[in-house]
Amino acid sequence: MMAGGQKKIEKALAEKRELYLFLDYDGTLADFAANPDLVEPNPEIIMLLEALQAHRHIHPAIISGRKLAHIQELVPIKNMLLAGTYGLEMRMPDGKLYHPLDLDLIRPQLEQLKTVWISLLDGQEPFYLEDKDWTLAIHARFARKETAQKIIDRAEQQARRTLDAALFQIQADDKFLEARPWQASKGKCMESLLKDIPVENAGVVYMGDDDKDEEAFAIVQAWGGYAIRVCSNVIKHPIEDWKVANPQAARQWLWSLIDKLGRMSP
Ligand SMILES: [Mg+2]
Repeated sequence: MMAGGQKKIEKALAEKRELYLFLDYDGTLADFAANPDLVEPNPEIIMLLEALQAHRHIHPAIISGRKLAHIQELVPIKNMLLAGTYGLEMRMPDGKLYHPLDLDLIRPQLEQLKTVWISLLDGQEPFYLEDKDWTLAIHARFARKETAQKIIDRAEQQARRTLDAALFQIQADDKFLEARPWQASKGKCMESLLKDIPVENAGVVYMGDDDKDEEAFAIVQAWGGYAIRVCSNVIKHPIEDWKVANPQAARQWLWSLIDKLGRMSP
């Protein structure tokens, strides 16, 4: 299914006048940072995004789980759509901020959970509590496996007791736990953004690396666009149209697009 994915995508895009690129940041454009609070702008990525943005028919955007303030530091480019916290915080191309969910509605419950989690993590060295205003997360990447499992399980139970299940989802794996509103979804974010894109003249590509991006893959494909996964592992049930091995390969392909579309008729 994946063979020929690249050619198929490039051929389809060459037939369109405009190209809308929706790009995840961590694990897609950039290699993972050890600490999610670490905000180190990468000059090579900025140069690439500036070059994409400068092309009159290419419209790049960032769709990230990070908070918007971080994305704005990482991508200091005006007039580019930046979506943080899975679309809950958006800076539109005209610079206006857009929040599809009212913070006051959800923050009191997160405050409660934060207090509970702070005491749970008290004295637990390798754990890291991340407060993204709209979501709370525990990172346990540097904890021993058994300790991580114990704390994450406990924290998950506490979250289920504290939060309204109609408003919040809780996502957990071995070394990560996040409580976030259902509305915080790259799929929902893409649904709202694609409404404004004219189907006939536009090609749409979404690039991402993880399960949060998969929600967006399905939406973009249903619209008629293409999903590209950035990942070196074998995917058991791939839903993407094409897979590139790592962020470096992803960046190379994006550079090549500028080249190819540059030769398109105006
Ligand atoms: Mg990612």
